Amino acid sequence: AKESGRNRVCLFSEQREAEVHSRTSLIQELADAIQQGQLMLYYQPQFRPDGSLHGAEALLRWHSPSRGMVPPGDFIPLAEETGLILAIGHWVLNTACRHLNQIQRSGLHDQFSLSVNISPRQFADSDFLDKVEQALTSHAVPAQRLKLELTESSLFHDMDHAIEILEQLRKQGIGIELDDFGTGYSSLSYLKRLPLDALKLDGSLVADVVSDARDLAILRAAIAMAKTLSLTVIAEGVETNEQRAFLASEGCDLLQGYLLARPMPFDKLYALIEQATPQ
Ligand code: C2E
Ligand code: CA
Ligand code: CA
Ligand code: CA
Repeated sequence: AKESGRNRVCLFSEQREAEVHSRTSLIQELADAIQQGQLMLYYQPQFRPDGSLHGAEALLRWHSPSRGMVPPGDFIPLAEETGLILAIGHWVLNTACRHLNQIQRSGLHDQFSLSVNISPRQFADSDFLDKVEQALTSHAVPAQRLKLELTESSLFHDMDHAIEILEQLRKQGIGIELDDFGTGYSSLSYLKRLPLDALKLDGSLVADVVSDARDLAILRAAIAMAKTLSLTVIAEGVETNEQRAFLASEGCDLLQGYLLARPMPFDKLYALIEQATPQ
């Protein structure tokens, strides 16, 4: 019994070692991924209830030669922990602005905007404002075409600081959207202090809204809160016609989800913009 106990300890530590090793190699591969051009942005379009195209959200994709397609949920937390998110986030912002420049130069759609996800560590970076300004100016993109999606964890940690940064961003014309709304702790008293332009209702609320009376109540309260504060309401994760009709009737301003369009590479988005623009 003693023997097998020792064996188990030994096995456990080998397993632990293997875990540390695979984590270390994942970090290394991720660090290389930026240089080697393995990161890509996909775009998921957002529509108004009347079906017209409004903009799109940029979603990060990693095509790893050894691992295949790695979903962002599998590497963004690690990137956040290690600080790699700063380099990745910089790449994301600049890539989105390069694409915005193409849209701008095409003259196709003078309102079309792209929303970029910003992680808490990126938002807390003392150079964040400069980096955003730089991305816009170096690609000659009007600030109105860029929106930033932030989560509560970025904003509520140090509200006074967050408010200052958000005010600077909005002064330039950049739209600020509170992401994953309905999953955290936001109360009206917090929200009214924050200079925001939009609330994004989380997909988990949207998923059950036609069947679950409590989700419906939360959704209605969230929309009422947003309207009180004159914020745009965006619903994400719209998968069924029933959800779409319902969200539109409840007063959502913008809809995003697999029902309307899946995330797509930039050339597909560009084609969609061309189609959507009356000649
Ligand atoms: P998120 O910001 O909440 O993004 C929405 C996620 O829902 C995306 O997953 C999108 O593909 C997915 N989705 C869209 N429509 C539907 C639908 O109808 N049904 C369902 N079930 N899902 C839908 P994705 O692309 O895997 O991104 C996951 C998360 O990774 C994002 O959640 C965001 O938190 C993070 N992320 C993605 N790109 C970036 C980035 O560039 N920077 C940072 N910091 N985070 C990012
Ligand atoms: Ca988002
Ligand atoms: Ca979200
Ligand atoms: Ca989410």
